[in-house]
Amino acid sequence: MAKRVLIKFSGEALANEDGHGIDSKTLKYIASEIKPLVDNGVEVGLVVGGGNIIRGVNASKEGIIKRSSGDYMGMLATVINAVAIQEALEYFGLKTRVQSAIDMKEICEPFIVRRAIRHLEKGRIVIFAAGTGNPFFTTDTAATLRAVEIGAEMIIKATKVDGVFDKDPQKFSDAKKLPRLTYDEALQDNIKVMDDTSIALAKDNSLPIIVCNMFEEGNLYDIIVNENFEKCSIV
Ligand code: UDP
Repeated sequence: MAKRVLIKFSGEALANEDGHGIDSKTLKYIASEIKPLVDNGVEVGLVVGGGNIIRGVNASKEGIIKRSSGDYMGMLATVINAVAIQEALEYFGLKTRVQSAIDMKEICEPFIVRRAIRHLEKGRIVIFAAGTGNPFFTTDTAATLRAVEIGAEMIIKATKVDGVFDKDPQKFSDAKKLPRLTYDEALQDNIKVMDDTSIALAKDNSLPIIVCNMFEEGNLYDIIVNENFEKCSIV
């Protein structure tokens, strides 16, 4: 069983059917998938994206909002999502802390790695918010960075599909799943497990990346606690 993991969800995973906002049913589902991990003694760090609310690239495409400002707006969106996930986890009786890369002391703690590790050791789930705190980065990179910093054994990229495919499985019925990939393969354009910065960081630190379907019940438990890697891809 993995002792300490970092799980990354995209913001879109939280969205309502129209791709926006925060769906309480999904929040409950995510919390119910994480609870058994913590109940089994796994130390869990979480990073959530902000794409259900705003992305810097989209916000700035008309040229009114600067890219860097759009990115800060995106980082703020991740804090909104982090608070929502915190509430859902606490609804299930779990102990949590949100740590933000941008100071927001009325809402959450600042990111302090030693403190984060202490929380994890005490069985608290730490939700890392506001990405890396820097524009021009993604929450995938933030997740990889935090995973390395807290000494997670793996980063789990929780998606809507069962792993990494040679082409988009939602568009092509003959898409083939790739159970194992090298970091260099994961960097290929047609695969794009995560953005290049995050994969390079994972590669430099030999951090395994597990890509799995978060909407299949029990999948996270199967991978993290049972170490059953059949229903995922490993980089
Ligand atoms: N963002 C950023 N720096 C970071 C992390 C995120 O500037 O370190 C901004 C960026 O604008 C990004 C947005 O926050 O588009 C939301 O994050 P992301 O797109 O990674 O979310 P996801 O696609 O996972 O929902």
